[in-house]
Amino acid sequence: MEWTEEALEKLRKVPFFVRKRVKKQVEEYLKKQGKHRVDLESFLEAKKVLLKKLSEAEKAFEISGCFGLNSCPNAITSSEGLLSSIEKLLKDERLGEFLLKKTNGNLKAHHRFKILLSECPNACSQIYIADIGIHGFMEPKVEQKLCTRCGLCEAACEEGAISIKEVAVIEQEKCIGCGDCVRACPEEAIKPVKKGYKVYAGGKLGRHPRLATYLATCFSDKEVLQLIARIISVYKKFNLKGERLGSIIQRIGWEEFKKKIFS
Ligand code: SF4
Ligand code: SF4
Ligand code: SF4
Repeated sequence: MEWTEEALEKLRKVPFFVRKRVKKQVEEYLKKQGKHRVDLESFLEAKKVLLKKLSEAEKAFEISGCFGLNSCPNAITSSEGLLSSIEKLLKDERLGEFLLKKTNGNLKAHHRFKILLSECPNACSQIYIADIGIHGFMEPKVEQKLCTRCGLCEAACEEGAISIKEVAVIEQEKCIGCGDCVRACPEEAIKPVKKGYKVYAGGKLGRHPRLATYLATCFSDKEVLQLIARIISVYKKFNLKGERLGSIIQRIGWEEFKKKIFS
């Protein structure tokens, strides 16, 4: 498409890392309007429309973590990279455009798809009311020869998962992977043998609130991303009018939802 020098001058002011994309989108937009030339006026018009669309698309999802990343002593995972990858995934999935279409362009805050992450099971970032909630956890193990039976780990465990026998013993079924025992042990006799993420789905507030339900445990960023991609695909497939994932689960049932995710 032909560009006038004035329009090109404006295009050069767009940051270089998005310039190519903006050029393509402006041309596509103007082609749809039956135009074959980009002059200053049409460039500014296209830019305005595209920016509006972009800000609407940005409203379509929210991804955030807790404060653990940089400062919290309870943090088990460190998810900066994972959060950026999740953001990229949602952009690649064109979730914004999808929701705009489903809501007939009437995208509201209550349609927003939320992925919230906490770096430990304390879940300060309200992961249980998110469409997808994620928290870091660890699997602790007692190194028997280092244990002096001091009992500090037992006192530290709020889940009652530790009892002192010949050495400290952890009941895995009760353990939520918070790491308090690891931090409490003066002998460094309890160590995290694994770290990972627990993933929950379908949390929301509104008229019919629902807490996110445990879906799966992942031991790498890649596994989390693959699971999110599967959730998004089911969410898109069963979405009628831009409703939250929790509403879809309420409609089709948890077991059916899980079947769709893992089949
Ligand atoms: S969720 Fe855990 S790591 Fe994050 S701020 Fe709360 S206590 Fe700290
Ligand atoms: S990780 Fe937390 S819940 Fe598990 S045994 Fe240690 S203190 Fe208890
Ligand atoms: S705190 Fe450490 S040394 Fe003390 S009982 Fe627990 S594991 Fe053993």
